[in-house]
Amino acid sequence: MDHRHSSDLGKETQTLICIICRLDKDDMSLEHVIPQSLGGYYHIKTVCVACNSMMGNNIDSPLVNHKLAELYRFAQNIAGKNGAVPNPFSGVFTAKEAPKNKARLDVGEDGKLEIYHHPSIEVKEENGQVVSIEISVDSKDTDKIDAMAEKILRRRDIPKEAIRRGERRVEISTGSFGSRWQLDTQRFKIGLLKIAYEFAVDTIPGYFEDEDAIRISEILHDARYDAVLDYVKIGNGLQQEICKPFEDFIDFEQKKHYLIMMPTEDWGLMCLVKLHDLFAVGVVLSNKRYLHEGALRIGVNSIEDRSFTKLTGEEMIGGCLGSGSSMFRYFFDKAEFEQCVQEVNNPAFRYEGQANEAVPLYRRSGEKFCYLEDALKQSRITMERKPGEMVSIFEFDPGQEYFIRAVSTGKLYQVAGYWRSQSIVRTI
Ligand SMILES: [Zn+2]
Repeated sequence: MDHRHSSDLGKETQTLICIICRLDKDDMSLEHVIPQSLGGYYHIKTVCVACNSMMGNNIDSPLVNHKLAELYRFAQNIAGKNGAVPNPFSGVFTAKEAPKNKARLDVGEDGKLEIYHHPSIEVKEENGQVVSIEISVDSKDTDKIDAMAEKILRRRDIPKEAIRRGERRVEISTGSFGSRWQLDTQRFKIGLLKIAYEFAVDTIPGYFEDEDAIRISEILHDARYDAVLDYVKIGNGLQQEICKPFEDFIDFEQKKHYLIMMPTEDWGLMCLVKLHDLFAVGVVLSNKRYLHEGALRIGVNSIEDRSFTKLTGEEMIGGCLGSGSSMFRYFFDKAEFEQCVQEVNNPAFRYEGQANEAVPLYRRSGEKFCYLEDALKQSRITMERKPGEMVSIFEFDPGQEYFIRAVSTGKLYQVAGYWRSQSIVRTI
């Protein structure tokens, strides 16, 4: 990100470029990358006040107020900015058998749903004469019956005395009530595009100047819902299975949101946005990759811990792996091949540093060269995932000769690679 300083009458004021309008601004605000009302705890300070409030209305709103998001917030008990948990069942429901009977669902103080029957009034007439008035109300409204009856009489100019009050009947209406919901299938995706874009700008140096990054900021700035699918390309927004490749390391059952950024061969830089078990999409951020093959940038937003953490792929994998076993791949001279194989395969064979992986490596001359750790860094790494296990195969730089030293004899053995298997014991 560009940080520019301008000096005004000797007073130093700092202006920053807003990542949405891309203008120099001095009024940056706290932007929630993942909306607060979805349990987001990831903040950045690179969006100006005007863009922040515009995005609240045009970008976050279709996501946060999506019917499924309302259901989610209700189920997870996540209050919005106004402190209230939304009622996804607001609106009027109609009895399937008797469409005149209407009801609504209220959220009680205990957070449970309660059905509330709208009052219904039926006036029966014969030959222009009112013969009966039937008022049915919710059990909570029984004290309102008298007032309602009076109102009807007044309107029809019927004296109270003319009414012979009937018995109060208690009827419990059962049967199913229905309502139609409109589910948005497109507009909410702009909110997911914003999350991926802001995560990338905040995480990948140089991405802000990317051609696609510029275009995405324009789409967000102008709320171009029609252009969102140019970038939100993977999944329809609800397919959780797009994150399946990470299931060894990530426990998707936890109350967490995950952002997983990675380079891909076909798409370039991509980000999976997985909001707990609500929405999941893959966003293509650029046709350039930015990260080297196999690298990852992961954002973990815990709703319960109210926290957001960034990890690299190595940190994620390292945090999930337990103990394991390892061995060297040897390179033996033809002349002493048989003898060497026998020696290193002997269960009593030990090399220096074997116990703690602080293995000194030597040159052919016997001079100390470096440690295993250093050679691993210079290696070509292939990782293989097996059920519950991660196998890393390191091929040492072929331009170097590395030797390990046998503890008992001091003899040097040439090594060409290293193999390590670790069990996967945790998830992030
Ligand atoms: Zn702005």
